[in-house]
Amino acid sequence: MQRRAVTVRGVVQGVGFRPFVYSLASQLGLRGLVRNRGGEVAIEIEGEASLLDQFLDELRRHPPPLARIDSIAWKPATPQKDDAFRIETSAKDASSQVVISPDVATCRDCCKELFDPKDRRYRYPFLNCTHCGPRLTIVTGAPYDRERTTLAAFTLCADCRAEYEDPGNRRFHAQPIACPVCGPQLELRDAVGRPVETDDPLQAFAAALLAGRIGALKGLGGFHLVCDARREDVVRELRRRKHREEKPLAVMVRDLAAAETLGELSLQEKQLLASPQAPIVLLRKRSLMSMPLADAVAPDNPYLGILLPYTPLHHLLLAAVDGVPLIMTSGNRSDEPIAYENDEALQRLAGIADLFLLHNRPIHVRCDDSVTRVIGGAELPVRRSRGYAPQPLRLPRPTPAPVLAVGGQLKGVFALACGEQAFLSHHLGDLDHYAAFRAFETDVALYEKLFSIRPEWIAHDLHPDYASTRYALARGLPRIGVQHHHAHLASCLAEHGLDEPAIGVTWDGTGMGTDGAIWGGEFLVGDCATFCRAAQLRYVGMPGGEQAIREPWRMAVAHLRDAGCSVTVLQTRVAESALRTVEAMWERRFNTPFTSSMGRLFDAVAAITGLRTQVAYEGQAAMELEWAAATATSDIVYPWEVVEHQAAPGGPATGAQGMVIDTRPLIRAVVEDACKQVEPARIARRFHSTLIELVASVCNRIRQQTGLITVALSGGVFMNALLTEEVAARLTREGFRVLRHQRTPPNDGGLCLGQAAIAARKLLGV
Ligand code: ZN
Ligand code: ZN
Ligand code: FE
Repeated sequence: MQRRAVTVRGVVQGVGFRPFVYSLASQLGLRGLVRNRGGEVAIEIEGEASLLDQFLDELRRHPPPLARIDSIAWKPATPQKDDAFRIETSAKDASSQVVISPDVATCRDCCKELFDPKDRRYRYPFLNCTHCGPRLTIVTGAPYDRERTTLAAFTLCADCRAEYEDPGNRRFHAQPIACPVCGPQLELRDAVGRPVETDDPLQAFAAALLAGRIGALKGLGGFHLVCDARREDVVRELRRRKHREEKPLAVMVRDLAAAETLGELSLQEKQLLASPQAPIVLLRKRSLMSMPLADAVAPDNPYLGILLPYTPLHHLLLAAVDGVPLIMTSGNRSDEPIAYENDEALQRLAGIADLFLLHNRPIHVRCDDSVTRVIGGAELPVRRSRGYAPQPLRLPRPTPAPVLAVGGQLKGVFALACGEQAFLSHHLGDLDHYAAFRAFETDVALYEKLFSIRPEWIAHDLHPDYASTRYALARGLPRIGVQHHHAHLASCLAEHGLDEPAIGVTWDGTGMGTDGAIWGGEFLVGDCATFCRAAQLRYVGMPGGEQAIREPWRMAVAHLRDAGCSVTVLQTRVAESALRTVEAMWERRFNTPFTSSMGRLFDAVAAITGLRTQVAYEGQAAMELEWAAATATSDIVYPWEVVEHQAAPGGPATGAQGMVIDTRPLIRAVVEDACKQVEPARIARRFHSTLIELVASVCNRIRQQTGLITVALSGGVFMNALLTEEVAARLTREGFRVLRHQRTPPNDGGLCLGQAAIAARKLLGV
């Protein structure tokens, strides 16, 4: 007879771990207890040595579906002679920090019940269990139990209570447990918010969608606008009402088989679609779809954002429309935050939705769908939100004091770091929007409460006008300012568990540099402690500042003039007077900050080739350049020059400088091709090939100077699949060790992780 004190670390809380341990121990006739302790699970187990071994072996080999075990350690303990095995609840263990799990897509068992006419939860849109259902979106406080969720107002019926209290039941301590007798209910409203009399709100809603109506559906983390994805007229009408001209819309399909009829699916993509996180997965469109979608779903886009039903309500809806693919796009007008409260939705979506399918289970934390894709055999996250947040990532070095890292601006995500864990928030959108900023403030406070982390330091971007920076200043805590691209580099290192010197190819649209210029085409050398700028793109003016981001032709003017070319190549697409004005701005440096941005170079090339002179959404010009390039084969590369150790010509005086990549020869060659009527796709391909050569050549120079062989690819430009895949392959061939983002997005959505890692290193003082 032995007793062992076992510690299990990893993702082990809020994933049904304790009931799992309970039933395993009970099956083997073992005695003892299990409880949450800090972020880990502590088990005391007593019985015959061989059975204890068997228990540990089984735990290691077959953990519950949502758990991820990092380590199991045990030491001998004094036998206690308990009568049985028991679960010690959080209430008895006030010191324990209960980790809040992300929301989990409806599990197989619950799906079976949902469509089983004999089950008491048959067609009940809010069923869930310990292995699935809402989590982050319904939590109002800590510790995580029913009283501190938005289900607090629903008193459990006797049947639900019995399940909830039975350690052997699939719903043991499933906080959002509900049934048709005691749980939330659906309600249908018309376009002006009046209740609609119907026996079956869901069926009525589905019928309206099939009749070409646009519906607003209250989902897990907010409202979706929903309509028939096959109908051109309906999808166009949705775009018109939502003021979303061209940005692609996500499509929900019934199952993997249906997804396969629309997009080309690899095994990995199938796994992602069907995962408990249920993200939107960007898939290559099939040329021949068996059930054609409206062109307006993702116009001129070779990719399609597909997702599977992830709540019982979605499953029921897709069944009710008989598997017709549905547009499932965030319930908002253009770029505002997604609506999530009933009254708010009725107000804000008035004029967009023809009818509303509401329910009375409040959403406490607004949470957008996550977006991801697979490139080169690995995941490349686009937006890490529902299903992933607030799952912590591990910092390469533990922080000695709790840190709040506030992230950037356009893709608001913050991180709370404590010890070695960094809890990354859900996506909060563009913090320029007041509503998004308000959500940022309240959700920071909520996360601090949920994880009982009281930050002592705050890490922020150097940009003084980011709302997150202003928040950091107002917070009154000691601050650590982090350069934007240093944070990108550190973010990529951190998600690989590294903090060691590396070459950081940090390419994005814009980020505040240490010299007051706008950076974005940098080669940094550094780790989480420090960095230097080993190379940069040559500075050019950005006529009109922010406006140049929306109007890529302005960057074309700047690059053309910088390269000594005439702007006549733009004449057919841009009004003469506008060209003259912007040229004059550029000449006089009026509202024309300097930038070394790679994103802006993409813009310039897209405009010169005639692919795009204005954008309807962020990054559109660069994406279209990528898609065009993908249709052509690689032949030649354009020239460029590297100037060693010289102050950037024309740029602000910055003291120490690394290499400057002179893009003027490249621009001249692009103009020459454009004048020779070379197809835009071919020019786009040559441009990409040039960048791949450029990365290899500059990284080789840096390797010669520093001996470094690790290269981290980060920044929004590395959302570009073609570039990322080919750069990674090329560098690997040249003997580099390439790190790219696989768990956080390379764009500013991943910034906070880097800020947290840098702050941790600073505070450690090593
Ligand atoms: Zn379930
Ligand atoms: Zn019930
Ligand atoms: Fe950035």
